[in-house]
Amino acid sequence: MTITPLMPVYPRCGVRPVRGEHCHLITEDGTRYLDFASGIAVNLLGHSNDHLIGAIQRQAATLMHVSNLYGSPQGEEVAQRLVDLTFADTVFFTNSGAEAVECAIKTARAYHQHAGNTDRFELITFNNAFHGRTMATISASDQEKMHKGFMPLLPGFKYAPFDDLAAAEALIGPHTAGFLVEPIQGEGGIRDGSDDFIKGLRALADKHGLMLIFDEVQCGVARTGTFYAYEQYGVVPDILATAKGLGGGFPLGACLATETAARGMVFGTHGSTYGGNPLALAAAGAVLDVVANDEFLATVRATGARLRARLEQFIGNYPDMFELVRGKGLMLGLKMRIEPRPFVAHLRDNHHLLAVAAGDMTMRVLPPLVIDDSHIDEFMDKLSAGTASYAAKVASS
Ligand SMILES: *Cc1c(COP(=O)(O)O)cnc(C)c1O
Repeated sequence: MTITPLMPVYPRCGVRPVRGEHCHLITEDGTRYLDFASGIAVNLLGHSNDHLIGAIQRQAATLMHVSNLYGSPQGEEVAQRLVDLTFADTVFFTNSGAEAVECAIKTARAYHQHAGNTDRFELITFNNAFHGRTMATISASDQEKMHKGFMPLLPGFKYAPFDDLAAAEALIGPHTAGFLVEPIQGEGGIRDGSDDFIKGLRALADKHGLMLIFDEVQCGVARTGTFYAYEQYGVVPDILATAKGLGGGFPLGACLATETAARGMVFGTHGSTYGGNPLALAAAGAVLDVVANDEFLATVRATGARLRARLEQFIGNYPDMFELVRGKGLMLGLKMRIEPRPFVAHLRDNHHLLAVAAGDMTMRVLPPLVIDDSHIDEFMDKLSAGTASYAAKVASS
């Protein structure tokens, strides 16, 4: 047998972390890495947050898991907090982002079908979107590399160019159920939808009686400096998928919806064995304690602005390598003029800095939300040294 015990679907690098200390990861051989990837926008509070650890430890010793057949005081409490903090009236808890999007897709279809509109099942989604790796969520993305080998796709998705309102409008037809969009594309390259685009989708949804679903799995939970990114667009969705940062590292996602949008999600229509178990909710409660307040969110915005200003100043030194900085809050992207993957690998292997490559020639900068100026300094030092050594390496090859 040549196959590895871990199914070889990930191109895993040589970094093998065994421990986390705040904003650093420590590997088997004791090397310290500055973690500006955060498990891809997951570890909002860094790696060894006492409040989060304490909440998980206490809950683990009290009650880890019960079936959703029983009443859930923990679920009601966290759901009520999310309802109070957002547009939503009701919440379904999942274990992952893909499941949260899956629930959002079902909720949008059920909204129409519950009212007898069985024809309305199609969602308009956007080029270079990422919604997860289940069959429905890969079908919701136009990315062929995710489809290959898994055909046929689930029917019911049409793709329009991202940030192109007229193209989205042109796809509306008798089968359209709604729009599914990341307000800020993550895997697609930290591309924020323009105000006109996001507001325009809301207006089109209202005009045609469609559901507007925001996939905030990556951009949600304080990442952009507001609790959810949609707040910065001045519109609300009907349905929202959230995950990644929500458990601060503990697997948890949620589908949020208005009462109207959720009208089809009645007894027996959906479920999850683990979804929203007490252990996951204890983690979410601890994350919300820290991030869901004006003071913390203002700090994220201010820290993001400082990091962004440093990056913008820095990239001017290397106009052949970097094009621009984009994103919101602490969800930042460096759009590059060269392939970001080998550059990200160089920063990791030679300068012990972790970032993540994304689509559209972009390097993602997704630090824990609890970084301070010392981490920004360390990041800029490593990035600066790494860029200089990479430029020298490229020049000599
Ligand atoms: C990561 C991500 C998902 C999928 O989340 P998983 O937890 O990996 O299933 C869905 N949508 C967006 C925008 C994401 O960034």
